[in-house]
Amino acid sequence: MVLLLDNRPCHSPSSDLEDTRPSLVGLGRAQLAEALASIGVPPKHLRMRVAQLWSWIYVRGVTSFDQMTDISKDLRARLDAAYTLARPEIVREQVSVDGTRKWLLRLPRRGREVMPPEIETVYIPEIDRGTLCISSQVGCTLNCSFCHTGTQRLVRNLEVQEIVGQIMLARDRIGDWPGAEPPGDGRLLPSTERKITNIVLMGMGEPLYNFENVKAAMEIASDGEGLSISKRRITLSTSGVVPEIPRWGAESGTMLAISLHATRDDLRNELVPINRKYPIAELMAACRAYPGLSNAKRITFEYVMLKGVNDSLADAKELVKLLRGIPAKINLIPFNPWPGTKYECSDWEQIERFAEVVNRAGYASPVRTPRGRDIFAACGQLKSESMRLKASALRASEATGS
Ligand code: SAH
Ligand code: SF4
Repeated sequence: MVLLLDNRPCHSPSSDLEDTRPSLVGLGRAQLAEALASIGVPPKHLRMRVAQLWSWIYVRGVTSFDQMTDISKDLRARLDAAYTLARPEIVREQVSVDGTRKWLLRLPRRGREVMPPEIETVYIPEIDRGTLCISSQVGCTLNCSFCHTGTQRLVRNLEVQEIVGQIMLARDRIGDWPGAEPPGDGRLLPSTERKITNIVLMGMGEPLYNFENVKAAMEIASDGEGLSISKRRITLSTSGVVPEIPRWGAESGTMLAISLHATRDDLRNELVPINRKYPIAELMAACRAYPGLSNAKRITFEYVMLKGVNDSLADAKELVKLLRGIPAKINLIPFNPWPGTKYECSDWEQIERFAEVVNRAGYASPVRTPRGRDIFAACGQLKSESMRLKASALRASEATGS
């Protein structure tokens, strides 16, 4: 069963009267200071005011300046006249029977964009954690043959605000702010009670192609005086942009996941075409050199299970051989099919046999249980569904001449 909580029409009347005030949500400290200075906050007060805003925005998650009770009424009014605390706009929210939630978000148009771009964010609750899967780009330039995101035309990097905005919006929607759930006495929730405990950069886009913005956004997400999500609980997934891997390791301190999907260059060239530029041997060398690796800090290797393509037991043995010597986890991902794809997901028995080979080699290899299947919670799918809806609406209007 799918529960649709919000399904606004694409062109609601309100979108014609766009609020031109910029939002402060998702800004870093330096930008907040600039925003405050530009409404006349004197330089000697900036540090304190930034600290106050930081805490209201990122610890409390407030959505109105009126809630900022330690800021004078006058300054609150000036803030409200110039800025908002708006999150990205929700086009659609879907809730799966298993609790997975998926949001299709609309971003403001930039530059010469004709249509406002749309991205998706997914929340996956589990017993011991809650993982938020966020996007780093609109679409993706990389065209992996099994991934629907790669088929989308419009591609642009997300701004820092748009990346952080996904976390803020998800926390709003699942009530993940202090006091948002009983007993509601305003106390700060200890981190174990938080619903979003982990972030994975596994939504739309190649995060290492948007290096600076993703890095700045993860600094805000992991800030100990703000959103406070530990870098050990943030994982960046890359298709293998080899030159950026050491830089990301040195500068960011997050965990790393590699979309491997094949153990031979000929097959990986086809599945993950960036492999033609950075072949497997180079990718493995970058992984071996990733800073701080240990048994407690391992690289995750993602391996999508494609029937008759990469799922033989010989492939499983090659995989184990390839990863020898690297502190690694292996995630076997059942392929999530999309309309028009030439691939099928491997049979469940084959996935189990494959996992057994991997397990015997000493890897705990959880098969990522398909979550939110009823709401198509896979890379690129909600977005494409909405595009189809728009296309059919267009055809209908053409047919009726309206
Ligand atoms: N661009 C980055 C991160 C986003 S994709 C990357 O490729 O790593 C996140 C993960 O979802 C990747 O491992 C990707 O290969 C996988 N993926 C993409 N489409 C999929 C599909 N249809 N079914 C299962 N996994 C998919
Ligand atoms: Fe881009 Fe990742 Fe999809 Fe490949 S798998 S097309 S890199 S989003």
